[in-house]
Amino acid sequence: MGSNFIKPYIRRLTPYSTARDEFTGTATVFLDANENPYPTVVNRYPDPHQRALKTRIAELKSVDVDRVFLGNGSDEAIDLLVRVIDCAEVGITITSPTYGMYKVAAANNGVPIVDAPLLEDFSLDIEAIGRASTQGSRLLFLCSPNNPTGKQYELREVERVLEVFEGVVVVDEAYIDFADTPSALELLSQNERVVVLQTFSKAWGMAGIRLGMAFASPEIISAMNKLKLPYNVSELTQRYALERLEEPQRKEREVFELKLERGRLIQALEGLSGIERVFSSGGNFLLVRMAEPRRVFEFLQSKGIIVRDRSNERGCAGCLRITIGSPDENVALLDSLREVL
Ligand code: PMP
Repeated sequence: MGSNFIKPYIRRLTPYSTARDEFTGTATVFLDANENPYPTVVNRYPDPHQRALKTRIAELKSVDVDRVFLGNGSDEAIDLLVRVIDCAEVGITITSPTYGMYKVAAANNGVPIVDAPLLEDFSLDIEAIGRASTQGSRLLFLCSPNNPTGKQYELREVERVLEVFEGVVVVDEAYIDFADTPSALELLSQNERVVVLQTFSKAWGMAGIRLGMAFASPEIISAMNKLKLPYNVSELTQRYALERLEEPQRKEREVFELKLERGRLIQALEGLSGIERVFSSGGNFLLVRMAEPRRVFEFLQSKGIIVRDRSNERGCAGCLRITIGSPDENVALLDSLREVL
């Protein structure tokens, strides 16, 4: 059961009760929250539980609404998981190279890190993950497709991880819309130790509203809700996301275009002398290896093109991480690369 992994003091916590928690009927005069009564879109506090938005998302993802957490980006969910799951003594397990926030969230909360590094081909090292579990780690972050490698893990690999790791397994699916593999949401109802993270920041094109999702057992979701700040998702964010959820075809279209661009960019990059390797990617970015990444990075920067230098990450020597841009942006990138390489 998920609750076994939650810190005992959190199980006993009573969350702050907002004015909007204490009244849930219909009323016309609200004198309970010390708000300014003169109406604008935002003069009232937002729904602290984001009921309308959560209901819509639960429908869309075919999960029960009590298995959905919404936060200020999925970064909020990452932070809360590190705080909620009882992992303080041994720490959380990461599989480097991977998304840097897992480490930062652990450090911010005084929680140690156990690393079960990826194998040379960037696949999961099941034995190392098993050892982390034996050591006592009870929270593992997997990222699929993985940032920065682009590697996607098949569901049977995640299932294998669940066999060897006894604690909570978080599958961060920030880039799942660009992947060919199915979502680990399929595993959610079978296993109470699975947590899936998704976000509106990537395929949905809403990084600016800060909205992330966690899907997990009701026990884990309830523990996260206890610790979150009362109004963690603003009224503007809730409204805008609800509106945009009504036009999912826009996201589908953009994802389709970006995947086409990804294919074109891979082909073009592979044709450039000086590019040693373009790693296949299930995300909207490519990890690209070359002889002098820093020189290339700086040249691109001088042309006003910003990419991410990942060459100091474990296993990523020589690598830049390049986001798939619009067709024009990708042409500009290739032109500059032809100049510098
Ligand atoms: N997970 C991964 C793998 C990411 O790459 C990112 C953002 N770069 C996030 C989570 C955080 O996304 P957000 O907080 O915008 O939802």
